[in-house]
Amino acid sequence: MNTPKILDGKAVAAAVLDECRAETAELLAKGIQPGLAVVLVGADPASQVYVGSKARTCAELGFHSVKIELPAETTQEELLQVVKDLNADPKVHGILVQSPPPKHIDEEAIIRAIDPRKDVDGFHPENVAKLVLEDPTGFVPCTPAGCMKLLEVSGIDTNGAEAVVIGRSMIVGKPMALLLVAKNSNATVTIAHSRSKDLPGICRRADILIAAVGRPEMVKADWVKPGAVVIDVGINRVEDSSKKSGYRLTGDVAYSEVAPLTSAITPVPGGVGPMTIAMLMKNTLQAARQFGV
Ligand code: NDP
Repeated sequence: MNTPKILDGKAVAAAVLDECRAETAELLAKGIQPGLAVVLVGADPASQVYVGSKARTCAELGFHSVKIELPAETTQEELLQVVKDLNADPKVHGILVQSPPPKHIDEEAIIRAIDPRKDVDGFHPENVAKLVLEDPTGFVPCTPAGCMKLLEVSGIDTNGAEAVVIGRSMIVGKPMALLLVAKNSNATVTIAHSRSKDLPGICRRADILIAAVGRPEMVKADWVKPGAVVIDVGINRVEDSSKKSGYRLTGDVAYSEVAPLTSAITPVPGGVGPMTIAMLMKNTLQAARQFGV
């Protein structure tokens, strides 16, 4: 048994937001107010919470904050028009359309309609290409950027480390793997997914294990090499009648059995989650700076 280091995403995110506050003040002094527009289509409760906290954080930092809430029956054309208007709005430097949109919306087409210079989620093909090219003018998706920041701030050396990423989504898994293998990180990376054979065996190789799956407590103790660093990206709602809400949040890692084996681990909640919003603010500042020059 060993006492793992708990990677406190709340504290690291607070420090990142302090940096953002200072940078906002510098931009304001130059006459640039960073602006972020968040668009929500429909009334998905989890999305409403995310959009609310993004808008609140913007306001706290002194950003120009636009929150557009559209009914679930909004058409593709109407949503494209909203994006077009935001592309043309000089007060808006960053645009985010909260995922997932209702089923009748073609999310890929919406992402492609966002001006890549305002795509602070980093999902536009131009920004995906810049990530592959390691071009720092691109926007890095916020959740994997937040995981990298947590590793960096916690003094975890990725150089030469065996990293395993479970999940290959464009939001988390793939960009996470690209960041880990990039020349400023130098990990040796394996990406696993639902068709991978012997997932526990693959995971046991990892010095750094990143779980981004969306399956509550899937990663068990016998999947983890003793001394590994475990980053749990999963946010899953599981029924819990002892809670007022009727549910509790849990990650993709069986925390209580895995944590004692690790050298460092993120809790859920309070690990990767807070980092995502902090990195979104950082991306918005980058957009404002890049527009300002
Ligand atoms: P997706 O559903 O888009 O991707 C999940 C990935 O996990 C897929 O690549 C899928 O494989 C893989 N997978 C599913 N089941 C298995 C399995 N049994 N074994 C191995 N791999 C499996 O999810 P996201 O990437 O968007 O999100 C992942 C998790 O992270 C979710 O819990 C989400 O809520 C959370 N999240 C948290 C954020 C935060 O701020 N902390 C932000 C974004 C997401 P395949 O491709 O083969 O289907």
